[in-house]
Amino acid sequence: MQGKLLVVGSLNMDLVVNVARHPQIGETILGGKFTTIPGGKGANQAVASARMGSAVTMIGRVGRDGFGDELRASAAKDGIDIQYVNVDEQEATGIALITVDAVGRNTIVVASGANLALTPRDLHTAEQAFVNADVLVAQLESPLETVSEAIALAVANKLRVVLNPAPAQPLSAELLSKVDYFIPNEREAMQVVGAETLDSAIDQLLGMGVRNLIITLGEKGVLVVTPDGRKEIPAYSVQAVDTVAAGDAFVGAFATGLAEGMSVEQAVQLGNAAAAISVTRHGAQPSLPTRKEVNEFFGGRK
Ligand code: ADP
Repeated sequence: MQGKLLVVGSLNMDLVVNVARHPQIGETILGGKFTTIPGGKGANQAVASARMGSAVTMIGRVGRDGFGDELRASAAKDGIDIQYVNVDEQEATGIALITVDAVGRNTIVVASGANLALTPRDLHTAEQAFVNADVLVAQLESPLETVSEAIALAVANKLRVVLNPAPAQPLSAELLSKVDYFIPNEREAMQVVGAETLDSAIDQLLGMGVRNLIITLGEKGVLVVTPDGRKEIPAYSVQAVDTVAAGDAFVGAFATGLAEGMSVEQAVQLGNAAAAISVTRHGAQPSLPTRKEVNEFFGGRK
């Protein structure tokens, strides 16, 4: 069964320069190769899901500029329905300025631009997309007011709600109690509730009404916590070269599994496999695997 996903979130153009070392304040250095790569957590998760075989509709905003045109075209090429990715007349397309040094360490500055102009009104204009979808996927690179409204509309239309709280910010119990699958990494889980330890974060999140807490633990895998208990599901052992977008690969594939009717554990396995493949490749969207590649990955491990 093909899942129908609605992604509400960001689209950025990643402007990446390779450098031998990062510059000091006030210093100019000559970099190496420059590349532009479509990114943004929303778009990355939409692409991850589309490559897993879901029918994906995205709601977002880009500017009326070359990057905006490229991002829309790139998403469409991955089969994403972009009719609700609006073009903002005032704000520029979101960008991320990224430098990567010789040992793979990066610095990133994001200028959110049009992503911050995504309003609840955009969601109401796109209400048909909520009627048609099975699962909503959202992150926090869009205004919180808009993310909250997306979750409310999803609940009203009986969609299951997946929230990846990245980048992390404090969230209310009112919002958290409407989320069916809350997927932070370890650091984000603590930041959302201001906890000092992961255990304390887990207790607080459950206390605030999170039903399924899926904490990604990098190469260690995933911790699934429900009011019934905890279960650790290990990651697949691979040779990692670049963990950028591992979380996005996981969330997109997990949401696809859910929309296809998989159990939480099966959907986590799909997420772990997609993310494991993504860390063996460079870049964000270019590293996201297809369903065929994931099936071959599983096949090779039987
Ligand atoms: P984020 O990218 O959001 O910080 P994580 O680092 O927790 O998220 O990674 C998300 C998921 O990607 C993990 O739960 C795991 O499935 C997979 N993953 C990340 N790093 C590795 C690794 N080195 N080897 C295998 N899988 C990995």
